[in-house]
Amino acid sequence: MNIAQTQQLFQDKDIKFFLMSFVDMHGTPRAKLVPAENLEDMLEGAAGFAGFAVDGVGQGPHDPDLSCVPQGDSTVFPLPWKPGLAWIAGNLQMDGQNWDYCPRAILTRTLEEARSRGFTLKTGVEPEFFLVDKKADGTLGVADAADTLAKPCYGQLSLLRNADFLTTLITHLNELGYGVYQNDHEDANGQFEINWRFGDALKTADQVSFFKFMVKALAEERGQCATFMPKPFANLTGSGAHYHLSLWDAEGKDNLFLDKSDPRGLSSVALSFLGGLLAHAKGLCALTAPTVNSYKRFGARSPRSGATWAPVFIAHGGNNRTMMVRVPAPGRLEYRTADNSSNPYLAAAGLLAAGMDGIARGLKVDAGRDDNLFLLSSKEAEAQGIDLLPATLGEALDELERDEVLCAALGSDYAPVYLATKREEWDEYHEMIAKSVTAWELQRYLSI
Ligand code: GLU
Ligand code: MG
Repeated sequence: MNIAQTQQLFQDKDIKFFLMSFVDMHGTPRAKLVPAENLEDMLEGAAGFAGFAVDGVGQGPHDPDLSCVPQGDSTVFPLPWKPGLAWIAGNLQMDGQNWDYCPRAILTRTLEEARSRGFTLKTGVEPEFFLVDKKADGTLGVADAADTLAKPCYGQLSLLRNADFLTTLITHLNELGYGVYQNDHEDANGQFEINWRFGDALKTADQVSFFKFMVKALAEERGQCATFMPKPFANLTGSGAHYHLSLWDAEGKDNLFLDKSDPRGLSSVALSFLGGLLAHAKGLCALTAPTVNSYKRFGARSPRSGATWAPVFIAHGGNNRTMMVRVPAPGRLEYRTADNSSNPYLAAAGLLAAGMDGIARGLKVDAGRDDNLFLLSSKEAEAQGIDLLPATLGEALDELERDEVLCAALGSDYAPVYLATKREEWDEYHEMIAKSVTAWELQRYLSI
């Protein structure tokens, strides 16, 4: 971190305090509130954290404190809605070394490995979210009671009713340099998406972290709840976080995915990277769609609007939203399986590791498909040699455990902790479901 520049920024923006922040395994931000004059101390590791207090940091209650330390690439975001306060993304460290259980450090490491092979990963993430509130009867509803269209996508009146929230959010994002260029009412009632400029993968991951924090904070101020949960309503489209991916040269100047002579505008590097995404598709899900609820988003029955828009099969195509990987424009890939219950650092690290493995192995892919995969039955897919994405978190974790490339990207210490923590989550859910008697069972078996 450039300390003089940050101090100047603090002065210009009249920053009195900052949040020295890291994320836990689930991508949930954790922080200490620090007076601005202690900025320099942070570089010495002054912000100590008891790692056992948060999930997946690889510590017991008896272990020494970890430090959260700003890095050369750390982003500093003054909170536009809370003057005087800033947010800084840091890495967890022990004795001045990055901690192997810190998601931001894991992404930093995988990015450095790729850079040493001549590649810089750039990403753009499309976060979808719902504005909801608890109804009087205790059920969850969309916050905007008038948002009831059966086909709500791009609803102009809904945009207008929520314009105060959206324009405040977008103005703040642009004050922070996000470069927001378009926003929409998505395909479910109460669902929105904000799009900002793509950039270096670590910066984008920081931006996603801060974006989720800001959206939730602004919604709370209005007495609403913003949720990035992948599937809050069974009958509506879920929320994804599509990852746009491209590899550039080590300086980040030339897009190495671009080849205008290819029908989809993809170079051989891009095609091999795509081969890697397909080869590691199942294990990747445990990182990019890492919650029980994620699996209710894809492979789900059609919601009220007609399509989930979320992938079912491990397949790729051109500008076709039924694919796991779409090529929306020359020189980039859009990975559509991810959702924002994922940790943005681990998701990016996994995607990069999968793609880099495809490059290392020189994988080749076919020309892709352009049909409507939502019409394909599992039987037809099987006959055509197309594989299904995992149906549950439990399945995805089994796949991750078998995937040596992805486990190596997480690191030999972190991978087992990740698998164990997530398995506990899956087991807890499974146990609860297995022990309860559902309405379906009563209907089916009561007359036995
Ligand atoms: N909401 C859809 C999903 O869960 C994506 C809709 C779109 O293509 O933007 O992935
Ligand atoms: Mg969308």
